[in-house]
Amino acid sequence: MKILVLNPGSSSMKSAVYEMPGEKRAAEGEVDAVGVRVVHGGSRFETPAIVDDAVLDEIGKLSALAPLHNPLAVKAIEDVRRERAGIPIVAVFDTAFHRTLPPVASTYAIPQDLGIRRYGFHGISYSYVSKRLHALDAGDKLIVAHLGNGASVCAIRGGRSIDTSMGFTPMEGLVMGTRAGDLDPGAILYLLRNGATDLDDLLNHRSGLLGLSGITGDVRELSASSDPNAQLALDVFAYRAAKYIASYCAALDGVDAIAFTAGIGEHSASMRQRICERLRFLDVILDDAANRAPRTDERRISAGRVGVWVIPTNEELEIARSTYEVLSA
Ligand code: AMP
Repeated sequence: MKILVLNPGSSSMKSAVYEMPGEKRAAEGEVDAVGVRVVHGGSRFETPAIVDDAVLDEIGKLSALAPLHNPLAVKAIEDVRRERAGIPIVAVFDTAFHRTLPPVASTYAIPQDLGIRRYGFHGISYSYVSKRLHALDAGDKLIVAHLGNGASVCAIRGGRSIDTSMGFTPMEGLVMGTRAGDLDPGAILYLLRNGATDLDDLLNHRSGLLGLSGITGDVRELSASSDPNAQLALDVFAYRAAKYIASYCAALDGVDAIAFTAGIGEHSASMRQRICERLRFLDVILDDAANRAPRTDERRISAGRVGVWVIPTNEELEIARSTYEVLSA
């Protein structure tokens, strides 16, 4: 089965074609099915779904929870339906991998009848990386740091997500390229009381590494800059990531391996070093030469008890797998 995968992002649309079940890349053109990444599946979608009118409608309604992301998926699906009428389309959700979050991890300390809970995101990437770590015999208690323009951390045990840093929306948790991550809700109330009208733009587009540095949200440029604010931005990013990783050792009752993935996680040796330096008390010791080696393949980069890995993610392949599974069931 030839599957076209669409992974719509804010600045670009990643696409790939896979011949399944062999998992070989294929050329675009005639395909048998389309798999589309959808960021927010809410409580409604815990598994991939074949898209019909009702499913598309639900994905559209979930745009309220992921206004930057779900509308892109809706548009991608509508385009496919117009251009390839009748082709089966499967929606694959970033939230689905986190359906196993235990109540202690999925619950906020607010009245439960509000219907606000933690969902978690980047699940397609975590599912792929978790399978790779299993194949590499990396252990049972895993912490994966998906550090890209959007960034999160996930604690995985027995292949199941047990905690993750993004919550009700993809805004909670780590410092990101332009998203603030964790912030005192009191600060938001303060800004609202003082007349702020552009909080969405502020917290999604003008915060994070960009807001901290005042320069850019791109780790490449910040790493090359001698501006003290650039260095502060990188330090706050690393400090927050290290705190989450350390706290997930409590969630997992230990840790066997930590894996870095996505743009920053895969490519920034200096960011991996900044983070791991704060985790030495856990016996997280980087092999400096392995960390700095100019390689792009998956590899172990640690010298201590805890395995540290770089695992290039492949969301497109994971979406192709899910699409194939649903359509061949
Ligand atoms: P992603 O969202 O996974 O595509 O990651 C994008 C981010 O990865 C960029 O904004 C950069 O901050 C970071 N990145 C990509 N390539 C590199 C690199 N060679 N060194 C450091 N950071 C990088």
